[in-house]
Amino acid sequence: MPFSHIMGQEKAKKFLRQVLAMQRVPHAYLFCGISGVGKKSMARAIAMALNCDHSVDGDGCGVCPSCRAIADGNSPDFLLVGPENREIFDERSDRILIEHIRKLNHAVGFSPIGRYRVCVLDHAQNMTVEAANSFLKILEEPPPGNIFILNAVDPLDLLPTIVSRCQRVAFQPLSINDIKKWLFRERDVDEESADILSRVCSGSLGKAIDMLDSNYLVKRKSWLSSVVDLFSVSRNRAFLIAVEYMNILKDSYRTGSGGRNDVFDMCMTWKSLYRDLILIKEGAPFNMLMNMDYIHDLERHVQAFGVDALLKSIDFLNRTERDLMNNINMSLIMEQTVMGLWSLARGA
Ligand SMILES: [Zn+2]
Repeated sequence: MPFSHIMGQEKAKKFLRQVLAMQRVPHAYLFCGISGVGKKSMARAIAMALNCDHSVDGDGCGVCPSCRAIADGNSPDFLLVGPENREIFDERSDRILIEHIRKLNHAVGFSPIGRYRVCVLDHAQNMTVEAANSFLKILEEPPPGNIFILNAVDPLDLLPTIVSRCQRVAFQPLSINDIKKWLFRERDVDEESADILSRVCSGSLGKAIDMLDSNYLVKRKSWLSSVVDLFSVSRNRAFLIAVEYMNILKDSYRTGSGGRNDVFDMCMTWKSLYRDLILIKEGAPFNMLMNMDYIHDLERHVQAFGVDALLKSIDFLNRTERDLMNNINMSLIMEQTVMGLWSLARGA
């Protein structure tokens, strides 16, 4: 899509359109920001603007054959270095390896079909050290007609020698309203669901879409109900909840990565409830809450907690996420987490 169709990111769009209109395009950009806020779409918009014969004010027309081929993913002048590109990634890998950079290097040796080829390194922080060093050599002597765009969450995750060769462009989380409107318009989501998804996705449209497609709203209800239960049950019942979650966890790890994401989503959902309790304690306006549909439960339990216990509960869940990422004994983590949260709710 051209710049004019991209959601939010007004500052980035304005800056890029100015650069493109002046025809002085740096050969490397670093797009920084969380996933799912439009970095890849922006890269496509750059490829369109540079190759479009009818571009206006630094934006592609969106309808000419060149623009359409880029939008549809059929243009050789838009090269994505990411697991979706089966010509570069022959098997599923989260890491960008030196062999992937070699294939990129080979591809950029040929002239683009149009005026410029735009090459995107998605999740550039996933480059191995060897891959990063090999990519650095390409950046040091960039073949003419190529523009490189690195997408990353944080520049600190990349080699400083790579970062210093790129024009940095910051991407912001999207607004709740923009995401809500998109879910209404494009996915026909009902008002309440769109409201919940747009609040819990941390400003990432990509995350909101993933959540919608993985049935998050149903799972969220059961996750929130169990954590609310924890606030008032006996030690034995809390232990049963822990066992129940250990089993869910075991099942999800057996069934693959979708299940693993569930566990992270569960931690995030639980944290959002503790965050809401802190906001209520501090007298924040209700429209700042993430779980407005649980307001009665939140108000019922908020008095039982001190802010300190709530912060500790969030810390606990952060640690759980770290441990899960490091693949430490899953059952043990879940038991410790649930029982830890239970103790904190009892003021222990
Ligand atoms: Zn066009």
